[in-house]
Amino acid sequence: MHPSSEASLAARRAIVAGNWKMFGSRERVRQFCKALRDAPWHGEAQLLIFPPVGYLADFAAGLGGIGLELGAQNLHEAAQGACTGEISGPMIRDLGGRWVLVGHSECRASRGEDDRTVAAKFAAALRAGLAPILCLGETLAEREAGAAETVVARQLAAVLSGLGADSLGRGAIAYEPVWAIGTGRTATPEQAQEMHAFIRAAICRADEAQARRARILHGGSVKPENAVELFAQPDIDGGLIGSASLEPASFLAIAAAASRPRKEGSTT
Ligand code: PEP
Repeated sequence: MHPSSEASLAARRAIVAGNWKMFGSRERVRQFCKALRDAPWHGEAQLLIFPPVGYLADFAAGLGGIGLELGAQNLHEAAQGACTGEISGPMIRDLGGRWVLVGHSECRASRGEDDRTVAAKFAAALRAGLAPILCLGETLAEREAGAAETVVARQLAAVLSGLGADSLGRGAIAYEPVWAIGTGRTATPEQAQEMHAFIRAAICRADEAQARRARILHGGSVKPENAVELFAQPDIDGGLIGSASLEPASFLAIAAAASRPRKEGSTT
């Protein structure tokens, strides 16, 4: 069976994950949670929020039992230690987090996280019982040099060959072209589908069953206006959303877009 066949799509519940980056305030968290409690989400997509870690407890209390899961935007490889300014996987769990982003391009760029470090963080998340979302993506210079697939394949291989395809099934993947993050410039649905299919094919070479199950989210200036077309692609299983996740209305509109039927088949 092709990894993007109808049965596989049905088995892959879409995820819409909000990355609040270093935005927000306790008041904004309160308002966001109230809006989600007032209009409870009953759609297909699974909703996740990644607030600044200091607001995890506010989110956990504010959302109550309405079914959204929480995560952190990064973690340290160690469970504890003399690592000023860091937070570990067990601490994220202790604060109510169940997910964690690893290898976000902003962390790769500003903190010098290389593929080895990202793979170590991915492993640390699994050890702590967290579901990691592995972020992959090429810069504009890399795309223009024709190296987009090489870069994404290398980033993926750091986890795939080191930790195995099973490990990817315990979390998710987010393909986020760096040139689309926070720029308002979005990959076309065709560009996005092409890279998502490339990622799924790479997993398929290691483990076909895991490739069918792997949830590959799309990120980079996803908004309610472009989400429907992006999420209709057969290898796009939802999104990692930055700025548009700060407003409850746009976050829920994107969640609704991820809950619509997808096209069958793959372009690759
Ligand atoms: C992100 O931070 O992962 C992201 C995709 O941001 P934005 O949606 O703002 O481009």
